[in-house]
Amino acid sequence: MSLYLSQRASRTVQSEIRAMSIACEKVNGINLAQGVCDTEVPAPVREGARRAMEQGINSYTRAEGLAPIREAIAEKMHRFNGIDCDPETEVIVNSGSTGAFYAACLALLNPGDEVILFEPYYGYHLNTLVAAEAVPLYVTLRAPDWTFHPEDLEKVVTPRTRGIVLNTPANPSGKVFTREEMEWIADFATRHDLFVFTDEIYEYFVYEGQHISMATLPGMRERTITMSGYSKTFSITGWRIGYTVCDRQWAQGIAYFHDLIYVCAPAPLQIGVAEGIRQLPKSFYDEIGKEYIQKRDLLCGVLKEIGLTPSVPKGAYYVLADASLLQGKTSRDKALSLLHETGVATVAGSAFYHGGEGENLIRFCFAKTDAELAEACTRLRRLSASLRPDRSEGALSLRNS
Ligand code: PLP
Repeated sequence: MSLYLSQRASRTVQSEIRAMSIACEKVNGINLAQGVCDTEVPAPVREGARRAMEQGINSYTRAEGLAPIREAIAEKMHRFNGIDCDPETEVIVNSGSTGAFYAACLALLNPGDEVILFEPYYGYHLNTLVAAEAVPLYVTLRAPDWTFHPEDLEKVVTPRTRGIVLNTPANPSGKVFTREEMEWIADFATRHDLFVFTDEIYEYFVYEGQHISMATLPGMRERTITMSGYSKTFSITGWRIGYTVCDRQWAQGIAYFHDLIYVCAPAPLQIGVAEGIRQLPKSFYDEIGKEYIQKRDLLCGVLKEIGLTPSVPKGAYYVLADASLLQGKTSRDKALSLLHETGVATVAGSAFYHGGEGENLIRFCFAKTDAELAEACTRLRRLSASLRPDRSEGALSLRNS
């Protein structure tokens, strides 16, 4: 047989996160590996979707999405993000922000175009770029504060560079980019004429600092592709409702690829999300911050206690922790030894770096119900003496964070 996978497919690797989730299931463990928020779906969102199904909104929609959700997103962009956009021509409802990024890459990048990624990165960003035959360039954020210098960007850029990915608040570092850092990136993108692809999926999960949308910075509206969605905010990761907001000259191409791959986002679920955006008060979003900061503090407190020093995140819902004291050579071994010892699944730090870094890090997700998180903490506290630190200093010092 002379059949084979495409070169594109043969470059793909199984997600480390999925592999850990499978290992976790086998030992009936608690999955702090995957970013699945199993908190409750807000009633207006659920009810809105149910009513839409009953009213027969079950067919294909326009590729860009139904008018009520595009209008609700445009209002929200004005109110929350400070971005004015035309719901008719500048808003596309995608199949999650994941679908948004894939469609944007296909519409805006040519094979061989380089795109800068900050690392530690979110694996889907890298793999989507690779699938679109773009070439990733890396700028490493430095622990414990995940900082960078403007010169770091200048060092990697070439005449073939076409874009930069900005994920704020960031997975996995929890970094919330400051206005100064955003201005560095804006200035850099303008000088080198780059697209800025922003993934703002954790925009409501901010514990310190403030969420700033790149498109609001002077001169950045036209070159910024703003992507976000409601998977996290409304706890509907399985619904696949995300969106892109961008200048109309890019929107049509993005909508075209979205149409080709997904046709449209699920029709009644678009209406459920539109109802949620319209009906939920500001206090709903404020509560997210309050609820998740408690989860963060609980988990980080326990991690400190057991010697897995956390880098306390300013946003999103992940914690990178120093795993240098766990058994095992690689971060994958360390994550597995923690799973076997405590029944808590995490993700190996190497999953977030391209060049052999991250071996002393593991990532915990705290988007869990209080009961589940409490159980995970109880199990973590049982970390046996054999795994426990012997006070040696971690190689990648997160200790003063
Ligand atoms: N972007 C980031 C940074 C994420 O961490 C995740 C999920 O973990 C996603 C996007 C996925 O978002 P969606 O469900 O809207 O595709």
